[in-house]
Amino acid sequence: MNNLTLNLTSKYNPYFCSNSAEQNNYNVDEASKFWLREQPQKTTINQTPTTQQTITEKPFFNSFETDTATNAAGTAVFLRLAQRGIEWLSEMCASILMRGKEFASESDVKKVADAMKSEKGLKADIHYIDNTNKGFLKRMFPGLAKSIDTVANGGNAFYTHQGNFAVAPKSKPSLILHELGHATNFEKSKFFRGLQKLKVLGMYAPMAIAFLNDFSGKRKDGKQSFIEKYAGVIGFSAFLPTIVEEAAASIRGIKAARKTLPNVKLGALKRNYFLAWMTYVLAGVGIGLASKLAITEINIEKSNRNNKQNASIKTT
Ligand SMILES: [Zn+2]
Repeated sequence: MNNLTLNLTSKYNPYFCSNSAEQNNYNVDEASKFWLREQPQKTTINQTPTTQQTITEKPFFNSFETDTATNAAGTAVFLRLAQRGIEWLSEMCASILMRGKEFASESDVKKVADAMKSEKGLKADIHYIDNTNKGFLKRMFPGLAKSIDTVANGGNAFYTHQGNFAVAPKSKPSLILHELGHATNFEKSKFFRGLQKLKVLGMYAPMAIAFLNDFSGKRKDGKQSFIEKYAGVIGFSAFLPTIVEEAAASIRGIKAARKTLPNVKLGALKRNYFLAWMTYVLAGVGIGLASKLAITEINIEKSNRNNKQNASIKTT
């Protein structure tokens, strides 16, 4: 089945498990604007008139600034294009996933889910919903109404430890096994519960990296700082705990299916889960790009300010 709501969940928003309480949409434009607003305007109060003159009269100074700004602008364009590419790939994964077949009948999937719950002694409730039976969950958890609607339409599935339930669409019940994998991670493993909680790192990584970079100051030799150089890798690493935890949830689901339904082929389930996992890997890459972009855009803004200040110094 096809679902239009997927388009709304593409931008750094992986397919699985994203409920409104745990959204990890990241908007680099807003974050860098926010950060720039917080920045005090750099002034030349401490500079004596003599040093100002020296700076403006240096022949290469302005052309160096312009070159740096041009390079940064080029990098920003490249990063934005790369972001579009990542979004497109993520949408492709999600749309192939949506067309993916169920690996077993609804009753077999439910058998696996019930076995997972009882074997692991999970407290989380299991729900399969569509538009006819979603009402009670929405009334119980009004804060999750939007996410519940998306699940009812077949566009997602999620587990929430606050609500203590896992929910999948009636049309794609096999997603529940991955969500019960999350429930197992949360309820039964300190390590994976820790990783689940680190999801928040990815959300704020670009802004935090940009802040740290600014805080650590500019290198005197004009070269890139460590943070500037590795912003992409650092951003991706911040999302790595989530990528690992997502893989673990899927592996738990697949293992349970193999154990409960030894004669059923799991190819379709593995394929679907791999595609869903890829949306997380791509989201990690997206966070890496957003981190690099946040730093680049702040540098462009600063460079523009410096140029304006230099121009005004020249005219005075
Ligand atoms: Zn998940």
